[in-house]
Amino acid sequence: MKQISKGDPPKVFSDWVAKEKPRSWDDLHTSKSKPVYEGLVVALRAEQGNLCCYCEQELHDGKTHVEHFHGRPNPKLAYDYGNLHASCNGDKSKCEDKHCCGHRRAEKQKESYGKLVSPLDGDVELRFKYDEKGEMQPTKQDDGIAQSTIDILGLNCEKLKRLRQKTFLDIQYQKPTMTDTDFVEWIRRRLEKNSDDHFSEFWTVVDFFFGSRATL
Ligand SMILES: [Zn+2]
Repeated sequence: MKQISKGDPPKVFSDWVAKEKPRSWDDLHTSKSKPVYEGLVVALRAEQGNLCCYCEQELHDGKTHVEHFHGRPNPKLAYDYGNLHASCNGDKSKCEDKHCCGHRRAEKQKESYGKLVSPLDGDVELRFKYDEKGEMQPTKQDDGIAQSTIDILGLNCEKLKRLRQKTFLDIQYQKPTMTDTDFVEWIRRRLEKNSDDHFSEFWTVVDFFFGSRATL
């Protein structure tokens, strides 16, 4: 899970909230409020370098879910920009076992309160590690919240494990083709945003094995 730095809400969203005083999240899903919702999604995706707030897969148009980290039972939380992140749709149809991220969490909403590491936490990236088969684990064995985060969000579903393993192996394969200096530089650039302002998928996997958390 990659850390997210929250910025200010997009003007289209804050202006609409101030004017309309919405009472529930559904108020943002009318045909009239569609541009506001779309403006919100664009802002959240940009803030996250276009990665899902939980699994770090790329986000795609029309397949992004607005995730309320602390739920949305009251309008204050529903429209608190600091509580909103962009999550993938969990790819329900394509994932071999259980889908992941925001939609999976929604099914476990009650049991998830207080049991998730937030992508806003300063130490979020350090609380998880990976093995070479792509499995995500708590960095500290006794970190029960990190373990429940993985379980509740389905972050070790077969699809995510396979894609993380592929990310690791692709880089491992490239490594001998470069000098150590060139490799370090290549990884440094890979961990920066690209020309579209997007981060590459599974950013923390790359950083863990080959970047700041690797012993090169
Ligand atoms: Zn996701």
